[in-house]
Amino acid sequence: MATFDRLLTPLRVGATLLPNRMVMGAMHTRLETLDRPHERLAAFYAARAAGEIGLILSGGFAPNPEGVMEPGGPLFNRAEQLDEHRVVTRAVHEAGGKIVLQILHAGRYAKVPECVGPTAAKARINAYAPRALSTQEVRATIADFACTAALAVQAGYDGVEIMGSEGYLINEFTAALTNARDDEFGGSFAGRIRFALDIVRAVRAEMGREPMLIYRISSIDLVEGGMSGAETAAFAKEIEAAGADLINTGVGWHESAVPTIAACVPRAAWRDAIRNVKEAVSIPVMASNRINMPEVAEELIASGVADLVSMARPLLADPDFAKKTRLGMADEINTCIGCNQACLDRIFTERTATCLVNPRAGREIEFAAGKAKQPKRIAVVGGGPAGMAFALNAAERGHQLTLFEAHARLGGQLNLAKVVPGKAEFHEMLRYFEVRLERLGVAVRLGHAPTAQALASETFDEVVIATGVTPRVPDIVGVDHPKAVSYIDVLTGKVEVGARVAIIGAGGIGFDVAEYLLGDAQEALDRGVFFRAWGVDPANANAGGLTRVDAHGAPRRSVHMFQRKAQPLGKGLGKSTGWILKARMRQANVMMTSGVAYDAIDDEGLHYRVDGKPHVLAVDHVVLCAGQHSNRTLYDELVARGAQPKVIGGADVAAELDALRAIDQAARLAMTL
Ligand code: FAD
Ligand code: NAP
Ligand code: SF4
Repeated sequence: MATFDRLLTPLRVGATLLPNRMVMGAMHTRLETLDRPHERLAAFYAARAAGEIGLILSGGFAPNPEGVMEPGGPLFNRAEQLDEHRVVTRAVHEAGGKIVLQILHAGRYAKVPECVGPTAAKARINAYAPRALSTQEVRATIADFACTAALAVQAGYDGVEIMGSEGYLINEFTAALTNARDDEFGGSFAGRIRFALDIVRAVRAEMGREPMLIYRISSIDLVEGGMSGAETAAFAKEIEAAGADLINTGVGWHESAVPTIAACVPRAAWRDAIRNVKEAVSIPVMASNRINMPEVAEELIASGVADLVSMARPLLADPDFAKKTRLGMADEINTCIGCNQACLDRIFTERTATCLVNPRAGREIEFAAGKAKQPKRIAVVGGGPAGMAFALNAAERGHQLTLFEAHARLGGQLNLAKVVPGKAEFHEMLRYFEVRLERLGVAVRLGHAPTAQALASETFDEVVIATGVTPRVPDIVGVDHPKAVSYIDVLTGKVEVGARVAIIGAGGIGFDVAEYLLGDAQEALDRGVFFRAWGVDPANANAGGLTRVDAHGAPRRSVHMFQRKAQPLGKGLGKSTGWILKARMRQANVMMTSGVAYDAIDDEGLHYRVDGKPHVLAVDHVVLCAGQHSNRTLYDELVARGAQPKVIGGADVAAELDALRAIDQAARLAMTL
């Protein structure tokens, strides 16, 4: 069994002793937009503190109104706000944890018309152009940071983190790309870093020696005109001298064209950039980005890359990450799969964050845990995410579960998802469910599809149907031709797919099939392959850490994707990951045609029309990715017999189904029984 001695060793940070090296990274959750926001935040953070995380970094709070992320976004600049923050700090301290307030000025990324920056250059990811701060306003902003830090200490926080990465205001000052100022806060390297250093000095002076002062540095900017590795190292030294206790590391700007935290990024990919900072300073340095397992975190410390690790999304996925690590239960950690579906994609579309693998995240006050008043015998039919999540949650509540799965292994469609390049993290989700179901004593009957009669003959108090979906076979002439194959046959390797392929349907599965047919499974596992594909110079010799893209040579296949809707393909993909998939398709010269009417599939290939004009595409295979139907045969039979089964996941509603909805619905049903 793996041991985590380094991860579990206490560490002194300034005047504070942290019990271990695991830190919950700052994450904007938008919980403040829901009812009872402070109670929610308190419950959310307290659960992580009770789970023994060594330190919590709060989501970012702006030090002044023009620095908020969005209208009404978190802002901490008045004494009247102290009490609402005390609700949070008290809850964390009572649960045995420590919490630091992150101060984040969004700069030119602020989605408010009055946003500001070092200069007036607009970010491509914001509709608003910033106004350039005057020298006097820069000094006032420094004072605002110090004021918020003083308020944080009064509110009971154990210190502050100054957000200096990801392309926000401070980062905009440090990079030549966004700082063309000619006053003392621009020009030379010394001028560009002055704003950050003055903030650190002012915050330290205001807070005194005791509270923790963490600075989050951009370890690699991943934008043209960012800092070089040598500049970053020199800057880190200056941050230490200015009074920081700990340097946290960030990776890339939000406008960078390189994925930094999606599942397609290899675990701990950014270690060289982090090590560069670590080697420059004598205070502790924290690693971040795509660290989702204790093994990865332990190795980063063991190999001298960092002294601590920051994990934000993994703490959404499992509040007990640190406790399970300490207790030797790492195989029971509910691992963040890097999908971004319920966290970043929601934040970017003005919704509140939760987690695909843990629907309780951010909903702690709704999902009050606890045992059921009356334990029941429950049958669950279907071992996909819906069935597994229901069985797990119901078993945790004390019910006695039998889970039937027709196939030889649990997982349902997750077994297809996990073979897609960049989706290997789905293996961890399967591992979590399998281990937890076994430890909870759920009777799993694999290779077993019970009939309605068989279910009736056993004395179950409840029957839950989670039989999922079956692929839709579109009504196209020749759909039974040997060239036409289902995505299941492709992803299970049943069909040897030819060199020229048409894909009918461009939803999530259509894109995944294209990626499978073209992609490189090694890319998400091998840093060298990933860096070459995305043009990253890990040594960061050039300013910004970018280099020439040295992608994949000739594409492995010629792929043409189709949809009937007359709109660009991929519109429904996740906000934070869709652009990555579309960029990969462009790299591989994938053709995309929308507004299509399908005529036939025959020996010649795929016949279709666009605007009434007929076309024929010569292909070896046509892969059908045309959505799915609910598989409700068993449910209907049970209802016909007078039973009252519950139905969840794809068996309930197939349209717009994903694992997020399947797991959420399952967990909520389990709470009611
Ligand atoms: P299913 O996963 O279909 O599971 C149903 C299970 O029931 C199956 O194991 C089946 O064998 C079993 N079963 C059926 N009938 C019986 C019976 N009579 N007796 C016993 N067992 C039975 N979703 C996301 O959120 N994010 C993604 O990135 C993502 N990627 C995907 C990639 C691919 C390639 C595919 C195919 C799907 C992807 N999905 C993704 C969708 C996600 O996998 C599904 O939404 C989810 O699996 C639906 O869960 P479910 O439990 O309702 O159904
Ligand atoms: P989907 O997103 O609903 O896409 C189905 C596609 O098939 C659409 O492009 C649709 O486009 C086409 N289609 C529908 N009916 C058709 C018909 N009768 N004939 C021809 N084409 C037809 O479903 P999916 O791709 O099967 O994915 C299933 C679920 O898994 C989705 O809800 C998705 O969210 C989830 N998933 C998520 C991810 C992810 O990364 N988040 C990845 C994979 C899957 P037209 O109707 O315009 O032709
Ligand atoms: Fe991780 Fe996905 Fe959960 Fe976000 S939604 S925390 S990426 S598992």
